[in-house]
Amino acid sequence: MHAAGSKLFSVIVKRLEKFYGRPTPPKITGPLELILFENVAYLADDDKRAAAFAALKQNIGTRPEEILKASQKQIEEATRMGGIVPELRARRLRQIAELAHYIFDDDLGAELKKPLPQAKKSLKRFPTIGDPGAEKILMFTRSYPVLALESNGLRALVRLGFAEEKKSYSATYRAVQQALAGKLPSGYDALIAAHQLLRQHGQEICKRTRPLCEAGCPLTAQCRYFQSRAK
Ligand code: SF4
Repeated sequence: MHAAGSKLFSVIVKRLEKFYGRPTPPKITGPLELILFENVAYLADDDKRAAAFAALKQNIGTRPEEILKASQKQIEEATRMGGIVPELRARRLRQIAELAHYIFDDDLGAELKKPLPQAKKSLKRFPTIGDPGAEKILMFTRSYPVLALESNGLRALVRLGFAEEKKSYSATYRAVQQALAGKLPSGYDALIAAHQLLRQHGQEICKRTRPLCEAGCPLTAQCRYFQSRAK
């Protein structure tokens, strides 16, 4: 763990907020819509994913019975806007609607009120939803005050020194989560903003192949990766 200790995370988030501005709160906050949003596109940028989801919502709807009534072809019209293999994703959207309707009685919200391990387990029954996806849903729906991280935010936190990179993505994710335990801001607004800021930072400056450290990163003074390169 980084020598700067427990205050480091809040310093980082404050610096990111000063640099990028306060993020706009997410528009999608319902559990089923969040699952559909994850699955409607693949390897698509934010705009493409939002367009595919908007098409699904407008042309079919996002309630389980609306999706179950639609044909595979109609659903594909939306998933095609979200990148390659639209047929597979259209089948997944139907599978999501079936699970929500037949297993969870059209009330996923009730699942999220259950104890955390059970709520997570229910969410992970849906296609493509692993621990990070389940935690994002729990955080965005304000069900549990967890800090979900996606790949951009996770990469930035590893470089900053919160944990070493492990052999697998899930082991790295767990290591960072353990390092952050007890150091997170309180309140959903702050957690969601931290998630969004770390994501933006990983996308725009702390990029995967070549981080733009010298091109104005606001975190050079806090960053283990930057300091180890400077030695
Ligand atoms: S200094 Fe470089 S590695 Fe560190 S957070 Fe900034 S961009 Fe990422």
